[in-house]
Amino acid sequence: MEMKEMYESMGICSQVLEFGLKIEDQLKERFAAIDETAEYNQMKVIRAMQECRVSDIHFAATTGYGYNDLGRDVLEAVYAKAFCGEDALVRPQVMSGTHALHIALSGNLRPGDELLSPVGKPYDTLDEVIGIREAAGSLKEYGVTYRQVDLLPDGSFDFEGIRASLNERTKLVAIQRSKGYATRPTLSVDRIGELIFFIKSIRPDVICMVDNCYGEFVERKEPLEVGADMIVGSLIKNPGGGLAPIGGYIVGRKDCVERAAYRLSAPGLGKEVGASLGLNQSFFQGFFLSPTVVAGALKGAIFAANIYESLGFDVVPNSTESRHDIIQAVTFGKPEAVIAFCKGIQAAAPVDSFVTPEPWDMPGYDAPVIMAAGAFVQGSSIELSADGPIKPPYAVYFQGGLTWYHAKLGILMSLQKLLEAGLVDL
Ligand SMILES: *Cc1c(COP(=O)(O)O)cnc(C)c1O
Repeated sequence: MEMKEMYESMGICSQVLEFGLKIEDQLKERFAAIDETAEYNQMKVIRAMQECRVSDIHFAATTGYGYNDLGRDVLEAVYAKAFCGEDALVRPQVMSGTHALHIALSGNLRPGDELLSPVGKPYDTLDEVIGIREAAGSLKEYGVTYRQVDLLPDGSFDFEGIRASLNERTKLVAIQRSKGYATRPTLSVDRIGELIFFIKSIRPDVICMVDNCYGEFVERKEPLEVGADMIVGSLIKNPGGGLAPIGGYIVGRKDCVERAAYRLSAPGLGKEVGASLGLNQSFFQGFFLSPTVVAGALKGAIFAANIYESLGFDVVPNSTESRHDIIQAVTFGKPEAVIAFCKGIQAAAPVDSFVTPEPWDMPGYDAPVIMAAGAFVQGSSIELSADGPIKPPYAVYFQGGLTWYHAKLGILMSLQKLLEAGLVDL
């Protein structure tokens, strides 16, 4: 069968395919640069695994307390080496990115301390962790105060505002790398370095933590290489490579990681307990695959940006700017288009392709949300997934794709659905 017929058998008409191929043709140079970053990061991971002498025995399962879980300890050494930290906590007992951030923050902050976000409001799920929204067990309930300095309207750091907000109680500065679902630009690792340099020049003792979600392996450098004390992320995003079925990580300064570990398990226990339950192989193998998986997701994001920008829609990041995370936003201006887009992503999935996503009211959201995810791991956003709140400006956020070919099919299918609904002209 010819390629065109193969796509046709998947439901992609020749008009959509040709439009997509024309766009793809213009992206050769950018794709080559992404492949080079993946090549570099692939060696970073292999080198860390070789230096830590990863071996077959490290894939063995442990149960119960998990004392002397060799695989777990070596996995943490691999993360520490690859991300340039002194120590790491990489556990299936960390349930999500939010949980990892919660233990990093609550493990390192004490009553009377202040937390500062110098890059605007953090990711939504941290509102209740911090106490921006009242919640039982928040840092606020434990006497930790919070201060925030927004980015300036042009997206730059408000250095004077940050200087004025650093005080004798400031203990930890939380820097979110990815824009998440906000409208600000994502921070490059170099920009994070600039910010940390400024903060440390005023308060060298303050802990600089980076929320690294969605950023891992997008660049050759990670934030610990530019002065961060701690990086935190989720294993069902980039570094799990699609294979980790659960988990989160904290990598960085030994004392910071240790305090987080005492919070995760118990004071006195720390990193010594926590059985890996047979998940080590998935964690190692997922980390090994992560650089190429991230490359596929990045290609998909750039492909979508170029397709939808050329059709006249607003895309963030735009078709040409440099990338520092894997999230792509497309503003459609119409609810029908958001729905058609998500239906396309769902229809191209390997899992649950027969399901039709519909908008629904979700807890914590002020408008119905439509979500498309045909994932092997529930909620995994390194797999191709999209969601859009049904409210102006009718934007859809999408990310992931374990392979470039799947991301490509998903985006072509989204375009197919928009075309069929009469919402675009090709
Ligand atoms: C996804 C994400 C989180 C939270 O991770 P969950 O696994 O969804 O809890 C926090 N910060 C950023 C920037 C994220 O992208």
